Amino acid sequence: MWRIKVPPKVLKLVWRALSGCLPTNSMLQQKHVPVVACCPVCDGESESIIHALVLCPVAAQCWHKAFPEQSAMVATDFFSWLDQALYKLDAWKRSEAVTLCWAVWKARNEKVWNQRMARIDAVVSSAAQYLKQWKEAQGRSSILPSQPFVASDGVSLWVKPQEDTIKVSVDAAVFSDFSAFGIGMVARNSSGHLVQAKAKLFQEMATPALAEAMAIKEALSWTKQEQWEKVVIESDSLVAIQAIRSQVPMRSLFGQGCGGL
Ligand SMILES: [Zn+2]
Repeated sequence: MWRIKVPPKVLKLVWRALSGCLPTNSMLQQKHVPVVACCPVCDGESESIIHALVLCPVAAQCWHKAFPEQSAMVATDFFSWLDQALYKLDAWKRSEAVTLCWAVWKARNEKVWNQRMARIDAVVSSAAQYLKQWKEAQGRSSILPSQPFVASDGVSLWVKPQEDTIKVSVDAAVFSDFSAFGIGMVARNSSGHLVQAKAKLFQEMATPALAEAMAIKEALSWTKQEQWEKVVIESDSLVAIQAIRSQVPMRSLFGQGCGGL
């Protein structure tokens, strides 16, 4: 699954679906959230994960349009369905299939929250477009491919820093509707206890990568101001981290001060 080349948010969505963690109505009901289990799109069957992503008439039509040869597959759960589907496809088609899951889920949410149901061909082409743009952007990047990973990259659980070290975890969010972005950071010590936390809102537009880089820059200023001597800064933005590690000189929108992290 992790070898499939798709945008991270696509992988995350499919991973959640495979682990049974997608908030469908029937899943919410199992968690005792007071919702009706039936599908909000077709009003028919209970909204299980396989129903939402594969069997719901809208989803089924998307699959039929994008992968007509796959229509005959029978499966009772999403895991075995995807397993069968991917098995028959080559690498590129696998990426397309996984991205279509994401596009179907996105279209469903659009229906649930904004009462707008996208047309079948629009869902299918949005998946193809999104994947294509992402792949092109990957190809253009001079930063990403050459940077080796280090041991702590990709950890999904928070780990305490070493003795005498403060770990600052940073994150950013872009609010494009309000032309603003926000950053947040949490400093914890080697026992895992909270030392300080800080959040800041910027009333300007930024790309997600720039917002993440600004968060790291703010964390560095904060570290200096608090005179913490040994600090580890942790971010979930691969692009920002790779850019900082990169030896490529950049006239950067990120500003000065990220070197030597
Ligand atoms: Zn349905």
